[in-house]
Amino acid sequence: MLLQQSSLFESMNKQGFEEIVFFSDPKTGLKSIVAIHDTTLGPALGGTRIWNYRSEAEALSDVMRLARAMTMKAAGAGLNLGGGKAVIIGDPERIKSENLLRSYGRFIETLGGRFITGEDVGTSLEDVRVIASETKYVTGVKYDPSPFTAYGVFHGIKACLDYLYGDRSMEGIHVAIQGLGKVGFELAKLLLDEGAKLTVTDIDGRKVKACIDIGGECIEYVESKRIYSVECDVFSPCALGGVINDSTVKRLKCRIVAGAANNQLENERHGEILSEMGIVYAPDFIINAGGLITVANEYMHGDVDIRMLKKEIEKIGDRLGRIFRMAESMPDSSGNPMSAARAAEIFAFERIEKISEMKNIYIP
Ligand code: NAD
Repeated sequence: MLLQQSSLFESMNKQGFEEIVFFSDPKTGLKSIVAIHDTTLGPALGGTRIWNYRSEAEALSDVMRLARAMTMKAAGAGLNLGGGKAVIIGDPERIKSENLLRSYGRFIETLGGRFITGEDVGTSLEDVRVIASETKYVTGVKYDPSPFTAYGVFHGIKACLDYLYGDRSMEGIHVAIQGLGKVGFELAKLLLDEGAKLTVTDIDGRKVKACIDIGGECIEYVESKRIYSVECDVFSPCALGGVINDSTVKRLKCRIVAGAANNQLENERHGEILSEMGIVYAPDFIINAGGLITVANEYMHGDVDIRMLKKEIEKIGDRLGRIFRMAESMPDSSGNPMSAARAAEIFAFERIEKISEMKNIYIP
């Protein structure tokens, strides 16, 4: 656990954290940690997660991990935003109340806009609206990000097909989708519209039925355990994190892994294994940034021009192409290409480094 291994300041310095704030309000039971990782590109943006952590140290580790990931995601998406995240400790079913959320909103207001927040695990749109009654530093209240995340994943898949087959067409392409929730279902519709055939799975049978109702013969269902070994062009994880791990990676019979789920690789090594297996991997924080691009636009402009927004999200495909080429051009000492996951991290942090150099100039 983070606090036991090294001092908090050592950890912050090592991982490049700017600020960690602890909010406590015994009257409402609020215990919250806000981690602001890097604001070189702009204010830190990240959702507020309410979770029943086993310890405060676990909550701190989680908020730091998630905040750093947001820095990479915003930088990789070309946004002028930094990375941050907030957690509220406790079981959302038990601790959530209007006064706790409003108390939290007042604390967020004290950060003066260095941190902007929104929905996450354990918080709903309704909760964000309550938080927004006390602070202007919230977003994701007007537009549901999920269809835009799906739109970005769709364009990311096209970029992967182009890289591998030299053709972006979906006609006859076989995609296996794991998870038909808010993103997976929208993605299925986009793919079907362009002639793809699908194999789908979800632990919720109603979602599978609804998908088969719209796709008919173009859709086949498999039990959730069998989705990894489906012979297909694209495996699209749209349910959970950590799905590419020691037990699943050897079963994959796809040419591409490209989906919406966060933290798809159990660890960095699995990105390397995919690369060694010749499977094209679309790094998750690049391909699933459509929702973040949407809430960032909502924050900056209030009302969003959907046509312009979609154009911005389509650029996810171009970014993936650049990352794949970057990975090829940086082989390791044995001549193997760098994994796309590693190349994506370098791509994101390079932008931050370049902007931080440029900001050395004093503007009177
Ligand atoms: P969701 O909760 O609406 O959908 C997840 C679906 O996965 C559910 O239908 C659930 O029944 C299914 N599922 C859970 N475990 C499964 C299993 N073992 N096998 C098959 N299906 C399973 O979530 P969502 O908003 O669609 O997001 C999907 C993923 O994408 C999540 O990992 C999320 O963190 C990530 N993501 C979402 C967004 C967004 O805009 N919603 C943005 C970025 C990343």
